[in-house]
Amino acid sequence: MVRLRFAPSPTGNLHVGGVRTALFNWLFAKKYNGKFVLRIEDTDLERSTKEYEESIIEALKWCGLDWDEGPDIGGDFGPYRQSERIKLYKKYINLLIEKNMAYYAVYDKNNNIIHVSKEYPEKYKDESIVVKFKVNKNINTEFNDLLKGRIQFRNNLIEDFIILRSNGIPVYNFTVVIDDHFMHITHVIRGEDHISNTQKQIMIYNALGWEIPKFMHIPLILGNDRKPLSKRHGGTTVDYFRKEGILKDALMNYLALLGWTVDNEIFKFKDKINSFSPEKISNKGVIFDYEKLEWICGKHLREKDINGVYFEFIEWLKYTEDYKTENIISENKEYSLKVLGICREKINTFKQLKEFMYNFFIDDFNYEERFVEKYLKKEWAKDVIKVSIEKFEKLEDYSLENVEKTVREIAELKFTSKKNTFQIIRGSVLGKLVTPGLFESISVLGKIRVITRLRKAEV
Ligand code: GLU
Repeated sequence: MVRLRFAPSPTGNLHVGGVRTALFNWLFAKKYNGKFVLRIEDTDLERSTKEYEESIIEALKWCGLDWDEGPDIGGDFGPYRQSERIKLYKKYINLLIEKNMAYYAVYDKNNNIIHVSKEYPEKYKDESIVVKFKVNKNINTEFNDLLKGRIQFRNNLIEDFIILRSNGIPVYNFTVVIDDHFMHITHVIRGEDHISNTQKQIMIYNALGWEIPKFMHIPLILGNDRKPLSKRHGGTTVDYFRKEGILKDALMNYLALLGWTVDNEIFKFKDKINSFSPEKISNKGVIFDYEKLEWICGKHLREKDINGVYFEFIEWLKYTEDYKTENIISENKEYSLKVLGICREKINTFKQLKEFMYNFFIDDFNYEERFVEKYLKKEWAKDVIKVSIEKFEKLEDYSLENVEKTVREIAELKFTSKKNTFQIIRGSVLGKLVTPGLFESISVLGKIRVITRLRKAEV
C-alpha cells in the first residue's frame, strides 16, 4: 500500500506552494488507495509555534484536504508531531555513534572544532556539543527521481554534517528519515528545493540499512521574475487568498493546474483523483498568475449551485468579520439568492461580490462621488427621477419585461440622453454606476426599495 505525507514546519502560515505539494501527495495517495499522513515538523524550536500549527491545520481543512493519520486524529504510527518523538531520534543517533557512523564534536566560541570523540565528552559539557554524521567521501550518492530521473551527488563535495544540535534537538535531515521510515512512507513528493537535502537523507537511510522511499521533486511556484514565489510578489498564504474572497474550489483548481496538464481547465480537485497521474506533472517552473486564479474563481462562482455559493459566501462574510456584512447575513434568503444570482454574473471573487451586493441590502447607502458629479447634480436629473417615481409607483408587477418597458418609456421622454437616463436611475437605486444589469437590479430590488431610493435621490 502506498503511504504519502505532508510535513509542514509550523514556522509561518500555510503557503500556496505547500498546499500544492500537499495536494499532489493527497491525489497520489487517493488514486492508489493508499494513506495520506500529516506530520508536523516542529524541531526548529525558536521559529515553530502552536498558533502556526493550528493555522496550518485549519488552512488545510479549509482547502478540502483530509488526512488518514495526523497530530489531531492520531494513527498507528504516531505521535505525528516531531517534538514528541525526540526519544526515538536519540535512540538512532546513539546507534549511529555506536556503529562509528556519527561522532560527538565540540565547538569553541569561534566555531572551531576543538574535540571529536565516540564517547560523550563529559569534560566539555559546558561547551557546545553536537553530533555529526560521518560522510563517506569515497562513494557517490544517487537516486532515481520520479520526475527528474537519475540524480547523482559527489559525496566528496560535502562535509560531515550535524545531526544533533547542541540544544539536544536533532536536525530536519535526520528526523525526516526516522519518521518516513517508521511511518512507512513509500513516496515523498516535495519541492525541488529539497533535492540537496535528499543526498544527506539517503546517506542516513543507507547507514541505518533502511529501504529508501521513492522521491519526486516538483518545481517551485515562481513569481513573474522567475524567482520563488514570496511576499515580494504579493500575498502567498492560503489565508491571504481566503480573505481576498477566492473560493476554495478555485484555489485548489488553480494550484492543481500549476504544473499538471489536464484537458479541461475548470474542475473540482476531488473529481480528478482517477485522472491524476504523476507522469502528467510538469518538470518546468511555473509562474503564479494572480489574474488567472481570479478568472478561474469567477468560473467556479458562476457554475456552482447557487445555494452552495450562498452558503459559502455567508461563511466567508463571517470569516472576514466585516461590519458591513450584517445586513446581508440577516436578510431573507430568497431575496439574497436573487441578488446573488444577478451579481455573480459580473464578478470573480467573494470580495467583489460583497461590494456588488451590499447596496441591495441597505437604503441609506452613500452615493459614489462620480455619480453625484456626473449625474445627480445635473438639471435634468430631477425630471428623470420625478417621472421614474410616478411610473414605478404605478407599476405593480416588477417583472423583467415590465421594468425594461418602464425604463425605456422614461428614456423616450428625452429629458437627457438614453445613457444618462439609465445612469441616473441606476445610481439612484444602487448608489453607484457599476452594478448588475439595470433591469435585473430593479426587478430584484422590488417596488418598496425602488420607490424609497428614488425618493431619497429626489431631495
Ligand atoms: N518540514 C519540511 C518543509 O516544510 C518538509 C520537507 C519534506 O517534505 O521532506 O519544508
